[in-house]
Amino acid sequence: MMTLPPVEVLRPSSVAEAVEALQKHPGSRVLAGGTDIVPNLKYGMYDTQHLVALRGLSKELRYVRLQNDLHLGALCTIDQLAHDETIRRCAPALAEACSQVAGPQLRRMGTLGGNLCLDTRCVYINQSYFWRNALGFCLKKDGTVCHVVAGGQRCVAAASNDTAPVLLALGATIKIVSPRGERELPLRDFYLADGIHNTVLRPDELLTGIRLPKDAFAKRQGFAKLRTRAAIDFPSLNMAVALEIEKGTVKSVSLAVGALAARPALIKGLDDLNGQKADARLAEELARRAHKQCKPLTNIGVDPDWRRDVLPVLVRRMVLRAAATAAAAS
Ligand SMILES: Cc1cc2nc3c(=O)[nH]c(=O)nc-3n(C[C@H](O)[C@H](O)[C@H](O)COP(=O)(O)OP(=O)(O)OC[C@H]3O[C@@H](n4cnc5c(N)ncnc54)[C@H](O)[C@@H]3O)c2cc1C
Ligand code: SF4
Repeated sequence: MMTLPPVEVLRPSSVAEAVEALQKHPGSRVLAGGTDIVPNLKYGMYDTQHLVALRGLSKELRYVRLQNDLHLGALCTIDQLAHDETIRRCAPALAEACSQVAGPQLRRMGTLGGNLCLDTRCVYINQSYFWRNALGFCLKKDGTVCHVVAGGQRCVAAASNDTAPVLLALGATIKIVSPRGERELPLRDFYLADGIHNTVLRPDELLTGIRLPKDAFAKRQGFAKLRTRAAIDFPSLNMAVALEIEKGTVKSVSLAVGALAARPALIKGLDDLNGQKADARLAEELARRAHKQCKPLTNIGVDPDWRRDVLPVLVRRMVLRAAATAAAAS
């Protein structure tokens, strides 16, 4: 049985106290729902002495507010977002992504903030200390080599959060609080291509909220995920699309892909598709571009060539569905 290493759990009762605790205890980590950080602590993936538990901030950070834009608190649970009527109306792809996160118990404990800040995953790191020790460890923790990319100097563990591609495609921004104050930044600037630390979040910063711009609500949205077991599994691949369609013509299109590399990413260079018909040709073109820009690695235990081949299938399916719902509504 794997046990939790000794850690002191700090229990702030406000955001101000939480960021103060993070600053006061270098190396401390945030504990939200604990569905990912607790198993990782048991695997010996972190050396932290202190956890800053967010439960006492639930009143402050668990909200869904429609005030022009849609504002979501970081402590909304994944299950709450999967069922919330406002989310289903304004951001149906987010509700869909949430309904496909893990299994029911984990969705009830897991939070949106924890999902966006989820640690990256790799078949060589999400293992017991004993297992990793036998292999000789790796760059992400305790070692000097990468087992995925021979000679690689950068960890390429996969961003495996299901809400990230949807929120990227919908143009979300996030709110971050630290002892120095508050800052807001586009989610597209939050992630880094580094599997060891794949966000710009500093050690004393807390992600407190997410804002979805109101222009996202009218977009045709879709989320799709490939996973080994439909009942409970991390994504082997996920994608989200947001299409603005007027009278059968595309006004704007965003396509985001996750679970392939350390950074969930927007597919680049789609602006020239604005003005095209929302039809099978567009779906085919988006599928082709996504396939070209994505090169999965052996970072998770599912064949990378297969994951790459499934990507255009999911893109085509979601774009055609979006075009069909737009046509039905007009
Ligand atoms: C068996 C299993 C299957 C899973 N399947 C999926 C899946 O299919 N899709 C998926 O997306 N996830 C999956 N997960 C991961 C996890 O359950 C979810 O991502 C969940 O939403 C994480 O939220 P949490 O509140 O539990 O995060 P925690 O475990 O509490 O935290 C996760 C990380 O985020 C940091 N953090 C948390 N909140 C904040 C904050 N507000 N500000 C700054 N840092 C913060 C923590 O320090 C930690 O590093 C799975 C987990 C398990 C165990
Ligand atoms: S990608 Fe390489 S460095 Fe990163 S966790 Fe996997 S084996 Fe370790």
